[in-house]
Amino acid sequence: MSIVQILPLRPVSRAYSYQVADHQSVVPGQIVRIPFGKNAKLPNEMGIVWAIPEKDETPRDKLKTCYPLDLIPPLSDALRQLIDFTAAYTMGSRGMVAKMSVPLNDIAPPVHKVTLYRLTPLGETIDITPLTAARGKVVTTLRKEKALTLADLTLQAGVSSAVPKGLIAKGLVTTEEISQETATPHIEPQDVHLPTYSAEQQSAADQLRQQVRDKKFKVTLLDGVTGSGKTEVYFAALLEALQMKKQALVLVPEITLTATFLERFEQRFGIKPIIWHSTLTPAQRRRNYQAICRGEAQVVIGARSALFLPYADLGVIVIDEEHDSSYKQEEVLFYNARDLAIKRGHLENLPVVLVSATPSLESYAHAAEGKYQWIKLPHRHAGATLPTIDTIDLRRESLNATQFLSPTLIAAVEKTLARKEQVLLYLNRRGYAPLTLCRTCGHRFECPHCTAWMVQHKNRGQLLCHHCGHVMAAPRICPQCNDEDSLVACGPGVERIYDAVRSQFPEARVVVLSSDTQKSMAGLQETLEKIEHHAVDIIIGTQIIAKGHHFPDLTLVGVVDADLGLAGGDLRASERTYQILHQVAGRAGRAEKPGFVLLQSYLPEHRVMQSLLANDRNAFLGVEAQERKDAGMPPYGRLASLIISSSSESAAQDQAQELARHIPWHDDVQVLGPAPAPLYKLRNKFRLRFLIKATKDFKIQPYITHWLEHTPKTKNARIQIDIDPYGFM
Ligand code: ADP
Ligand code: ZN
Repeated sequence: MSIVQILPLRPVSRAYSYQVADHQSVVPGQIVRIPFGKNAKLPNEMGIVWAIPEKDETPRDKLKTCYPLDLIPPLSDALRQLIDFTAAYTMGSRGMVAKMSVPLNDIAPPVHKVTLYRLTPLGETIDITPLTAARGKVVTTLRKEKALTLADLTLQAGVSSAVPKGLIAKGLVTTEEISQETATPHIEPQDVHLPTYSAEQQSAADQLRQQVRDKKFKVTLLDGVTGSGKTEVYFAALLEALQMKKQALVLVPEITLTATFLERFEQRFGIKPIIWHSTLTPAQRRRNYQAICRGEAQVVIGARSALFLPYADLGVIVIDEEHDSSYKQEEVLFYNARDLAIKRGHLENLPVVLVSATPSLESYAHAAEGKYQWIKLPHRHAGATLPTIDTIDLRRESLNATQFLSPTLIAAVEKTLARKEQVLLYLNRRGYAPLTLCRTCGHRFECPHCTAWMVQHKNRGQLLCHHCGHVMAAPRICPQCNDEDSLVACGPGVERIYDAVRSQFPEARVVVLSSDTQKSMAGLQETLEKIEHHAVDIIIGTQIIAKGHHFPDLTLVGVVDADLGLAGGDLRASERTYQILHQVAGRAGRAEKPGFVLLQSYLPEHRVMQSLLANDRNAFLGVEAQERKDAGMPPYGRLASLIISSSSESAAQDQAQELARHIPWHDDVQVLGPAPAPLYKLRNKFRLRFLIKATKDFKIQPYITHWLEHTPKTKNARIQIDIDPYGFM
C-alpha cells in the first residue's frame, strides 16, 4: 500500500499524507476523494496528489484513505509548480489557488441528456399581466430563448426552480429530454482567413509566429496605437499554435469579452472560440472545462481566472490590454494574472505576448531595458489618422453647479451632429449623482455599511451604495431636519449627463451605456449594433464603452471630467488616467473621417493632459518612470499591503496596534501605518492598513511571515496580505 501527499481543495496550505485505497494506484496531479478533518470518515472532499514521497514515516494506522478519480487528466508538473509559486508569492492558501485550476463545480463530466423547458401553445399566447412577476419573467424569457435547461432558465429569469415547475402544473410550460451535442467545434487551420497585412503588421505577425514555432519562453510587448491591427496580428500567433496542434490562450479584461470581439474572431477563424467567463452557465462551464483539459479546445478566450486552467498542451499566451488593472484580483485571493501568465510561460517554456496601446509602466520598462522583445505598430490601419486632442479649461468656462457640459463642448457637439457624425460623451460614473445632500441642514446620505456616499440613481428612484449594493428609496424629506424638497443632487453621473444632453439636443438620438443600462451581453450587443449602424447620434458611456469598439462615424469624443481618476493620487493614478483617456480618445476617427477629442479639465496643465495633447506617451512614461525610481516605488521598488478588518472597531484597532508593536526592523524596509483605510468601513467591517515598502530585491514574503508569526492575534480580526497592491482603498 503506497502513501501519498494530498493537497486538499480547501483553504489549507499544506499537503497531508494518505494511503491509497486497495488495488488502486495514483499518479502525481491526479484528483482524489478524501475524508478530511479529525473525525471525518466519509471521503466527501476532493484533493490533488501533490507528491509521492519515497518514504513516509507516518504510522499506517493514523492514515486515512484516498480514492482516485478519473474526472480529468492529472495536473501537469508545470501547473502544480505554478500553483506552488502563486501560493508562495501571494501568501495565499495553496488549496484555494489549486481550486482555481480545479473548480469543483466545473469538473464533473458534462451531461449528455438534458431536460429542456419550453412553452406550451397556451404559454406562447397567454396574456401574462395577471401572472405573478416571477412567472411572467419565466414566460417572457422562454418566449425569447425558446428552450432552456432549468439551470439556465432560473438563471436568466432570476427565479427559483419552483417557478417553472409551478408553470408546468398550470399547463403553460412543458419539458422534453434531448441528448446534447458535446463535441467541441473544431477549427481547420486551412479555413482560417487572416487579413492581408500591411508590411508593418506582417513583420509583427511573422515574429510572433516564429516564437510560437520556437516553443521557448519569451515575453513580447506588442505595442501599437489603437486601431493599428494588434488583434489581427496576434490572431496570426493563434493560428500558428493551431497548426502546431497546440492550444492558445487569450486573456482579456472582463469587460472586453463582448459579442463584437467574439464575432471578429469567428469572422477570421470560422467558429467561436471556447470562452471562460463569469457569465457562462454551469453546463457551459463543464463542457468548456473538459474541452480545455482534454485538448479539444484550440483557442480559449477568457478573463483572468482562465490562466489557471489545466490546458492539455498550451502553445502561446496572449494578454490583451495588458495594462488593465482588472488583471489584478483583490478579493479572496490577491493575484495578478498578467504577472502569473508570464510565470506560467516560463514554467511551460512558451511565448507570452503582452498587447497594449498604453503599456503599463512595468511592461514598458522591461521592453525598454531589452528584457522583453518590443514589437511596435505605430500607425493606424488603412491610413486612418490619430485623433486631435485638446483640453477645455473649465476654469475659464464659468459653469454653475448644475452644468457639466461647457459651452465649448456643446458647440463642438453641435458641429459634429450637423456633419451627421456621432459623438461619445465619456464619464466613468454610473447613476445620476454621486452625492445627495440637504440644502437646509447639510445632511449627506451615507451608506450605513460603508464609508461612502449613496449614489443617486434617478431611473430606479433609488440611492445605491456602489461598494456593498445597499439600496434605499430616493427620499423626498431630509431624515435629519425633516425639511421637504430640500435635497439636491451634487455632481454628475451618466444619467445626469443624459438629462443635460436631452435638453440641449432634443432632436438627437441618445443612448446611455453603463453596466446599469446594459445588463445582459445580448442587450449590450444590440446597442452596439445600433451605434455601429448610426441609429444613435450621441452615446453617453462609462468605461464599458472605452475599449475595443469600432464605430466608423464616431468623430467626437468629449470627456466630461478628465480629472476624475487623478483624485486620491494613488501610485498609478496618473498612469491609469493616461491609459483610460488615451483609450477613450482612440474611439474617435477610426475610419476615414478624422477624429477630435475634447478633455474637460480643471488641470489642463497636468502632465497627463499635456502628454495626451502632444501624443507623447513615451515621454509621459519616461517622467513617470523617473519619479517612481526616485521614490523607490514599483517597478523600481516593492510594495505590499496588510489590511486589517473586523466587524468590531476595537478589534481592528487592537490588531493594528499589535502589528505596529511588532514591526520587524530592517534596513531595506519601511512600514507605513497603521492608518485607517480610505474606505474605513466596508460592508460593516472596519479596516486599517499598513503599507510595506522595500527595495527591489528584498524578499518581502519571508519578512511578512516573520512579522505575523511574532504578532499576537486579536480575536475576530482578520489580516489580509496584498503583494504588489493596485488598490489602496
Ligand atoms: P487594435 O487591436 O490595434 O486596436 P484592430 O486589430 O482592432 O486594432 O484593428 C482595427 C480595425 O482595423 C479592425 O476593424 C480590423 O479588422 C481592421 N484591420 C486591421 N488590420 C487590418 C488588415 N490588415 N486588413 C483588414 N482590416 C484590418
Ligand atoms: Zn455600502
